[in-house]
Amino acid sequence: MFKGILINKDDTGYQTTLSDLDDAQIPAGDVRVDVEYSTLNYKDALAITGKAPIIRSFPLIPGIDFAGTVEQSDHPDFAAGDQVVLNGWGVGEKHPGGLAQKAAVPGDWLVPLPQQFSTRQAMAIGTAGYTAMLCILALEKNGVNPGDGEILVTGASGGVGGVAVAVLAKLGYQVVAMTGRPQEADYVRALGASEIIHRDDYAQPPKPLARERWAGVVDVVGSNVLANALAASRYRGVVTACGLAGGMELNTSVAPFILRGVSLVGIDSVMCPRETRVEAWRRLGEDLDIQKLDAIAHEIGLSEAIETAAQLLDGKVRGRVIVDVNR
Ligand code: NDP
Repeated sequence: MFKGILINKDDTGYQTTLSDLDDAQIPAGDVRVDVEYSTLNYKDALAITGKAPIIRSFPLIPGIDFAGTVEQSDHPDFAAGDQVVLNGWGVGEKHPGGLAQKAAVPGDWLVPLPQQFSTRQAMAIGTAGYTAMLCILALEKNGVNPGDGEILVTGASGGVGGVAVAVLAKLGYQVVAMTGRPQEADYVRALGASEIIHRDDYAQPPKPLARERWAGVVDVVGSNVLANALAASRYRGVVTACGLAGGMELNTSVAPFILRGVSLVGIDSVMCPRETRVEAWRRLGEDLDIQKLDAIAHEIGLSEAIETAAQLLDGKVRGRVIVDVNR
């Protein structure tokens, strides 16, 4: 038996409980992992609260990421005792997830734990931080350099935003952070933002074009915030869109694309090819200050995950939430 969160949906409704589980809950997978840490991402909070249809088969253990030690492996790349990280691939959505003491997955889904990080630090980064790095890799691939001008990071006091600010600042970019929580301005500045702007500035639908400002954007919010960021992008600016914290819709015009050559790059962490994941984790090892992780992340026990999920969706959680699945 092992402890884990289990989500069920039946005639009596949607139930999320901390449960005693057995191997029947972690079927397929050629690598069995003793999970040490998981995290609470925005998507996990949606799954735990049932606010969006994230879970595709019931009952299921949520948790889209985990880090731990291989207990047993039939995969040639992994052996018992190896430390590994998992992000996405439908884990915690249609395959049993990381918010439990045990997990089992196909070995092709696993990434070896980068040597710079402990399993706890890897989960301080988690899927949110790895996604932030995917956004930054996309900015670089599309030609955005530190000397090109200001980079806007939205949702800056959240998980993706915080890691994006910290990494971009270390790389020498001038980072402008957007937040709806002015009380977190000192925290976001300490991560490396040179200026803070309020989310309300981008709350209304934009004109087709605004004053050119952003050389690059990391956007986690979507909706009017993303539309405004596109309208205010500089000539050949690059906007990476990874989130929907402010809404799914996007009402924009073609003006930024055809008059300024702006690029809108979609970022998906779930099915991202393995080589890009390995590269993202390698770069996190190089370009993220481990000390800043202590400011970004705080730890809770598995038993606190359900109540913390609701707080996260209410915008009351700062940075990243590490979950120690063994307490
Ligand atoms: P968090 O909850 O940690 O951060 C989201 C931040 O967005 C909040 O801290 C808040 O920042 C801002 N925000 C929240 N609600 C609103 C709102 N109604 N309007 C505008 N801004 C809002 O989540 P994560 O950082 O973990 O994830 C951010 C987004 O990225 C989510 O939508 C998530 O689903 C998505 N995501 C996508 C991935 C992918 O593969 N594409 C992978 C990982 C995450 P502040 O208070 O500073 O304004």
